Amino acid sequence: MAMGELIVIALGGNALMRRGEKGSFEEQYRNVGRTAVFLADLVEAGYKLVITHGNGPQVGATLLRHDAGMKLHNIPPFPMDACGAETQGFIGYAIQQNLRNELKRRGIDKYVITVVTRVIVDKDDPAFKNPTKPIGPFYSKEEMDKIKAEHPEYVFAEDKARGGWRRVVPSPDPKIIAERFAIRNLVDAGFIVVASGGGGIPIIEENGRAQGVEAVIDKDLAGEKLAELIGASRFIILTDVDGAYINYGKPDQKKLERVSASEAKRYLNEGHFGSGSMLPKVQACIRFVESGGKEAIIAELSQLKEAIHGTAGTHILPG
Ligand code: ADP
Ligand code: MG
Repeated sequence: MAMGELIVIALGGNALMRRGEKGSFEEQYRNVGRTAVFLADLVEAGYKLVITHGNGPQVGATLLRHDAGMKLHNIPPFPMDACGAETQGFIGYAIQQNLRNELKRRGIDKYVITVVTRVIVDKDDPAFKNPTKPIGPFYSKEEMDKIKAEHPEYVFAEDKARGGWRRVVPSPDPKIIAERFAIRNLVDAGFIVVASGGGGIPIIEENGRAQGVEAVIDKDLAGEKLAELIGASRFIILTDVDGAYINYGKPDQKKLERVSASEAKRYLNEGHFGSGSMLPKVQACIRFVESGGKEAIIAELSQLKEAIHGTAGTHILPG
């Protein structure tokens, strides 16, 4: 291993919540504790780490809390950018404390720091004309009409399967990680950094001033941009499946072990990867190696060490 190699690791939903859990802080803290053991193995082996994570269920719960706060106590709900910052904060805290405790237990003199991270998106991104990402609570038709009267700019979509209406927001492409230099400096100073949680807080710039927007950036695409801009040599996406498959869920499904970016692109165009789940992961991996990264990996959370050594996961390589 190249001593001091910089790796960006994207944690999926299973690093924080397991199937059947309600999402109490204690549950999530305990799950992060288990995840921290895998991360500490890499720190102990000499890797420099930047960690990012998803926040789908967490920001959904935060939006519900704000909603209930308004109904019950007349506390004004926060906009999505502020809710994103809230989740970056509490998840970052859980990672910071668990990972530091594990490092301390092993006698490793390294510290973990969370950066509230903003991600610049293009105000003319076509996604703003076509909101697709469902967020927050389910509403009845009557509740939705009431909200619409107050917020005519909100867009809703019906979820027929689960019976109800949900707000949908745009999912624009991440262009620049606003805090990239600070993150890189913290890495160079020896810190393990948690950044760009939940895909980062989406911001647009107008007349030189930044402002938050109501949108959700995909965490794998944002993680890739982060890895690219801080010059990581590898980008690893940890999730609940042991790799990217072709013919997934069919009798002839096959796990991809080592593929070139062009081969991965072919499978992507053939529709092998679930949109909103595996597709953005493969897309992020392709982008990473095409922008100079050495290798991108998709692997199961508990197989991190094996994935680094090339014996687990899907490895996407330049070419
Ligand atoms: P995360 O929270 O880690 O981002 P996701 O649910 O978004 O998790 O993505 C992982 C899921 O992608 C897997 O659990 C699997 O059901 C789904 N998936 C869709 N297509 C594929 C595929 N071709 N190969 C493997 N998994 C796939
Ligand atoms: Mg996902």
